[in-house]
Amino acid sequence: MLEDTKIYEAAKYPWSISARTLLKELDISLKEIDANTRALQQAQRRLLQALESKEPVTLEGKTSSEFVEFTSFFVAKVMVDAIKSMYFRRRWATAEAKRAERFFFKESDLKLATLAKHNFNWQLDPKPTRIAGREFSHRLHFANYLAATAGFHEREWKLVNKRMVNGCVLLRKGDTARVLRAAVEQLLISDVKRVSPPFPPNIQQMYEELEVIVRNRTERIKQEIMGEIVPEAFPPCIQALLADMTEGKPLSHIARFTVTAFLLNVGMDVDSILQLFVKAPDFREDLARYQVEHIAGKRGSTEYTPPACAYLVSTRLCVKKDKHCEFIRHPLAYYRRRRKWIKPKSS
Ligand code: SF4
Repeated sequence: MLEDTKIYEAAKYPWSISARTLLKELDISLKEIDANTRALQQAQRRLLQALESKEPVTLEGKTSSEFVEFTSFFVAKVMVDAIKSMYFRRRWATAEAKRAERFFFKESDLKLATLAKHNFNWQLDPKPTRIAGREFSHRLHFANYLAATAGFHEREWKLVNKRMVNGCVLLRKGDTARVLRAAVEQLLISDVKRVSPPFPPNIQQMYEELEVIVRNRTERIKQEIMGEIVPEAFPPCIQALLADMTEGKPLSHIARFTVTAFLLNVGMDVDSILQLFVKAPDFREDLARYQVEHIAGKRGSTEYTPPACAYLVSTRLCVKKDKHCEFIRHPLAYYRRRRKWIKPKSS
């Protein structure tokens, strides 16, 4: 008989290592979940809410069962893996992480530390500290803190603005929940599994419907981004990479991927992008064409987008941030915003 606490915890934190272990122990197949209408409906709700709202994913309802919450997460994840849209994955990861944050607020200090240790191998100590009239609940090792907050833009999160003790950042309970939320988001974005249809009938139907919704949504965003390319609206990180390319400086693999994916997403064609790479010291047209076409989705089913700001910060490609960066989390979002404000150059 399944322990109530195990399934209760797995329903709250279905991305956690213990929830994934439980799924394996229960040996539940997609075929079995396919017969569970409530789990499928909740999976669909999770995904549609993630796409349509900035609010956290909500529970099924007052009578929601833990089993439905738990299994619906896994169906949702299969859908995200199968649809292979980075936009969709990011939306879903953000919504699920916000959902987790709501639970974090209600946990004890010790429980948060245990979750952080088990799932992210963090050194997070629950140690009440009072300094200058302010109460702190935890101490987080600065390296863990920096990794988790790489994508945070607000000044208050900068390390220089944090109180530190023995190499650890002092956090209030709300800060701890926020930093853990970022870790959950990063985990869900990076945990990509190779999954493809066909699925059992009901899940297959959900997949086909969602695929259309996601495709329409990403097409609409593409239309907003594409059109006449406005280089003045490129974010500083991309401008810096383009400047390096023009000077013939060698770029790392991730730098090449970032700039290529960005230019493809704003509407530049493969040949024009190849022209930018000509000056690279190791340029080989056949190889470069293969790579650019692969990122464009011409040699596989995945069309790539550039990494989000958080990742670019961690790989030191986020340079010369300007005031417009304060409000965005992705280079394409920067471009979309700025493009609306900058009058395109007349040809
Ligand atoms: S914040 Fe984002 S958009 Fe701005 S420079 Fe850094 S990576 Fe680029």
